[in-house]
Amino acid sequence: MAPGVELGFAAAAAGPGGAWRLRSAYFPSKVGGRPAWLGEAGLPGPAALRCGRCQRPCAFLLQLYAPLPGRSDAFHRTLFVFACRGPACYRGSGPRGPFRVFRNQLPRRNDTYPEEPPPEEPPPGPAPAPPGRLSGGAALCRVCGCPGPRCCGRCRRAAYCGPEHQALDWRRGHRRSCGQHPAGDDSVDAIPEHNEFLFPEYEILIEPEEPEFPDDSTIDPGDEQVAVETSKDPKEQEELEATGSAGETLQSLDEETLEALAKRETEEDKIFQMFKEKVAAEPEQIIRYCRGGEGPIWVSGENRPEEKDIPNCLCGAKRIFEFQIMPQLLNYLQVDSLGESIDWGTLVVYTCANNCGGAHEYLEEFIWKQDYSVGHVLPS
Ligand SMILES: [Zn+2]
Ligand SMILES: [Zn+2]
Ligand SMILES: [Zn+2]
Ligand SMILES: [Zn+2]
Repeated sequence: MAPGVELGFAAAAAGPGGAWRLRSAYFPSKVGGRPAWLGEAGLPGPAALRCGRCQRPCAFLLQLYAPLPGRSDAFHRTLFVFACRGPACYRGSGPRGPFRVFRNQLPRRNDTYPEEPPPEEPPPGPAPAPPGRLSGGAALCRVCGCPGPRCCGRCRRAAYCGPEHQALDWRRGHRRSCGQHPAGDDSVDAIPEHNEFLFPEYEILIEPEEPEFPDDSTIDPGDEQVAVETSKDPKEQEELEATGSAGETLQSLDEETLEALAKRETEEDKIFQMFKEKVAAEPEQIIRYCRGGEGPIWVSGENRPEEKDIPNCLCGAKRIFEFQIMPQLLNYLQVDSLGESIDWGTLVVYTCANNCGGAHEYLEEFIWKQDYSVGHVLPS
């Protein structure tokens, strides 16, 4: 039987109660902040983390802890997604563009983590500042938490991924603290938890999707119209209101749009309608995970990748669907701006079917961005 879909939800992570759980030792799934790297070898460096469009460093978007049962080499396994901060890089659907995805895995017995699961309680003492180094010693950029091979020319201690983040940290305070530590003291000024380059941080909580009515996915265009019509029926309206943002989502589509949707019985409408229904069932979902099982749900019939558009892994194996990022994530990222914004309909991640690779590498995987078609936008 194909595995069911699991949904990811964003939960507030900040504060002394929760942030500790987002550190590497707890194998988190999370949005924003700095990456909680899994393996310490083979991290993607500054060149690998550059935006494919503007060449500037990508920011950490999210990571999913997704071990593979029955695979001792993937006892721990995490997928990392990075995204450009520049709104102009988000024009158009298609492969990669402003995104980068990496996969890393470790066996249960490894050099970095104990074999037993981490404790459920917070560690004693105040929450530590973001790590400036991996436990093995490699320096991380003070701004983005990615490998930092470049260091401040004055103090020779503060590490950066490149000139952009060195300049940003200088403006933000390193100018004053640089060289303030006496010779022999190897410490650098504590790394501020947040900065304007990082996306806001949330924990991702995973839950199985509730099963639906059996023939929900076989609505024919005739039923489609009914489905739209009934959303105006007072009883269902009540239900929608009771579910909070599901109601808002549908209500904020103006009547004209609803009419247009009902009249045009096209494939396009059907696909978007299906998407809306899946979203309405769990309006806060930011992730849909189902490795190798049920495929992604699309926001549009346009710009869906064909098999030939998804390149095989370097090992020669096909890539299969693993998870998709939903547009609801945008509501948590504080990326709205008056002009152009960071935006997507959905982002679909495909990974090596063989799950190749060893413990000492971060392998790049494939991501596809699909935009809404004209007139079909899920309001936030
Ligand atoms: Zn860019
Ligand atoms: Zn950096
Ligand atoms: Zn310095
Ligand atoms: Zn492979």
